[in-house]
Amino acid sequence: MRVVVVPVLSDNYAYLLIDDEKRIAACVDPAEAHLVLAKAKEEKVDIVAVLTTHHHYDHAGGNAEMVKQVPGIKVYGGRIDNVAACTDFLDHGNKFNIGSIEVLALHTPGHTRGSICYFCSEPGKEKEGSVFTGDTLFVAGCGRMFESTPKEFHDSLVNVLGSLPPETHVYVGHEYTVKNLQFAVAVDGSNESLKQMLDWAQEQKVQRKFTVPSTMKNEWLINPFLRSADDSMRSICPGCSPVEVFATLRKKKDSF
Ligand SMILES: [Zn+2]
Repeated sequence: MRVVVVPVLSDNYAYLLIDDEKRIAACVDPAEAHLVLAKAKEEKVDIVAVLTTHHHYDHAGGNAEMVKQVPGIKVYGGRIDNVAACTDFLDHGNKFNIGSIEVLALHTPGHTRGSICYFCSEPGKEKEGSVFTGDTLFVAGCGRMFESTPKEFHDSLVNVLGSLPPETHVYVGHEYTVKNLQFAVAVDGSNESLKQMLDWAQEQKVQRKFTVPSTMKNEWLINPFLRSADDSMRSICPGCSPVEVFATLRKKKDSF
């Protein structure tokens, strides 16, 4: 199993998830189909499926073109997410294969009500898996809460994605890392890991390098939205529950 990053639009990430033995791949959120198809050609793999994280145009907007260009391609998406050109509708816990790669659909409402994250691994190697999180989880942040409640979004992050092995590689939907880390530093100033990571992310940006993948372990250290039960985060909303801390953080970030 191998993941190739394909930057699309102004700051979106599409990905190829490749089974090198069978020379086939799935693509995640191919918003610009021609760029993803060109990358697949370069990698000498055939795309057999689209994994759609959610219905927004900058993620699902290339699905119809993929169907046109690749006859018979499967387009996966959340059952209640209204994903363009969807052929295979997913519920929480559904499993399917891309070659020898096992894919597990995780329903993660919050950014959209039907959002799906995809946990992908090889049989017996679940600790070396990767998760594609769309606009649910970003490096050091999370997406805007458009179609859900703070409780549902918090649950998606902390209990659904949070149950994945700490070693899991995290591939997110946008390059928002510097901005997210600036916010994280503003609300969690005593966290040394954050300052180091902000320096690193700024340097990556200068060098036009990606800040993906992160890991779940890293996100537990730096992501304020996952750390809303942590004592250091409580000061932003004294006496509040983790869900209320999460809601306060999300509201602050909207105007940051
Ligand atoms: Zn979105």
